[in-house]
Amino acid sequence: MKTGIFIKSEALLEDARLKNLVAALKDGGMELYRIRRSEDIQKETELVLSIGGDGTFLSTAMQVGPRNIPVLGVNLGRMGFLSENYPEEVVEPILKKAYEIENRALLRVGGAGVEMYPYALNELAVYRSGASVLGVTVTIDGQTLPQYWADGLLVATSSGSTAYNLSVGGPICMPSSKVLIIAPIAPHNLNVRPLVVPRTSIIEIEMSSRNPKVMLSLDNRTSLVDASAHLSVRVAQFSLRRVRLPNASFVKALTSKLYWGEDIRNGK
Ligand code: NAP
Repeated sequence: MKTGIFIKSEALLEDARLKNLVAALKDGGMELYRIRRSEDIQKETELVLSIGGDGTFLSTAMQVGPRNIPVLGVNLGRMGFLSENYPEEVVEPILKKAYEIENRALLRVGGAGVEMYPYALNELAVYRSGASVLGVTVTIDGQTLPQYWADGLLVATSSGSTAYNLSVGGPICMPSSKVLIIAPIAPHNLNVRPLVVPRTSIIEIEMSSRNPKVMLSLDNRTSLVDASAHLSVRVAQFSLRRVRLPNASFVKALTSKLYWGEDIRNGK
């Protein structure tokens, strides 16, 4: 099976666990090659290994783009929600092709002045570029919400619900939930809450700012756009095909990585 490997951190190349993984996969008959950018992805590639943490997984999703090639996250990073499998756990399921593939929705942003790769797996965020508060007006399928006054606002997918969304008080969603989350960042309003909307929604964002520019982030990429930009966000036509190993559990990830329910009073 022809398999590409994406590694962001060059330091990991010396990691003994990675070397053992590569050796075991080659021994099992796999053809492996390194991907540094999307043009490196060879025809007939059946699998891409994303080696690192969730940040690396986000970059891998960008390199793979609409190619439909399944991506398996191998965790040599810190958090590991998207990239949850340790190197020792993946060899047997890969060689036996004993895994499932889940489709993870991506966001697509449109609008004048958006010059970067317009897709995101975790979230899109608009954020003030100066000291002044940002006014954000969101319209969902033609219905306009009252204006937020905030540091910014994000539109997150279910995959991104455990990322930036978590820090701004948004809900955690099971990865299969077909929803998007609209959540303000540090709103200066007492009476606003994150809002969950159907994944089919078309979300339009307009901003008002004393600063001429606003920061726009898509996952781990950022650029400045005009504050007068009119952004439109919807789910992309293609998904990220994420490999899910048989022992994977989102609830286990919540407890082991975020310590959900840890109860020091009762020793649990
Ligand atoms: P980073 O600042 O180096 O790390 C962000 C942290 O978020 C890392 O610990 C990363 O995990 C974790 N993470 C990324 N996606 C996740 C997901 N879906 N579920 C749970 N944790 C996740 O930046 P980065 O690694 O390039 O990642 C970019 C992401 O950072 C953005 O998409 C945004 O969600 C997040 N972010 C969060 C905040 C915040 O919480 N206040 C602010 C800015 C950006 P690993 O350690 O496994 O890589």
